[in-house]
Amino acid sequence: MRRKLIAGNWKMNGSLAANAVLLNGIKGELGQPTCTVTVCVPAPYLAQCRAELAGSPVAWGGQDVSIHDSGAYTGEISGGMLADFGARYVIVGHSERRTYHGETNELVAQKALCALRAGLVPIVCVGESLAERESNQTAAVVGAQIDAVLTRLDPKDLAKTVIAYEPVWAIGTGKTATPQMAQDVHAMLRAKLAEKSAEAAELVQILYGGSMKPDNAKELLAMPDIDGGLIGGASLKAADFLAIVRAA
Ligand code: PGA
Repeated sequence: MRRKLIAGNWKMNGSLAANAVLLNGIKGELGQPTCTVTVCVPAPYLAQCRAELAGSPVAWGGQDVSIHDSGAYTGEISGGMLADFGARYVIVGHSERRTYHGETNELVAQKALCALRAGLVPIVCVGESLAERESNQTAAVVGAQIDAVLTRLDPKDLAKTVIAYEPVWAIGTGKTATPQMAQDVHAMLRAKLAEKSAEAAELVQILYGGSMKPDNAKELLAMPDIDGGLIGGASLKAADFLAIVRAA
């Protein structure tokens, strides 16, 4: 049985004051969750997460990582720096980074590898656009995204990786993939992982992301290959985030 993982993706939201309210709201009501819980926050707030969350069941992480370890790369943040602040996870290849920052499948795969080298768990995002879904290209697009990662990772690293299937048309739009639509892609992804390593494929958590909310989380999380959620909007309200954690 794979343990479920609920990961909040704050994106570029928050302030010291707002985060304190959110983190205390989560900590105060969480109890001992049956799933793994993490928040992935803007880098300036990692220190705040370390101060507020150390000793709690909630892990924290970043939203992007450099492919370089150090040096003249203005604005970049290395895996080692994230690890320095106690980060356990880092999102890589989010569709917003692929779209607005031109991140390619190849770069995303390199980032996953750099995260693993720094001892972080990469949450590798894949997903198709609406046009791609409507022209029946979902399997090809998502397949190519995952293949780029699979060719670079050995089975040992693969087993330590998290995948997030996030259909681009469902992110922040209020449109969610039906549980069956998501399950079909998750099963396809797991089959691809199994071609590389049957053992790793059984271990890898495949999250669903895209307008997951308290009222649809239970149904999505009940599907056999949906091992958790990557939560954007609903991770910014403690009550909503906690409701999703409880649904897992
Ligand atoms: P959403 O975002 O839950 O607001 O749709 C999910 C994500 O982009 O990770």
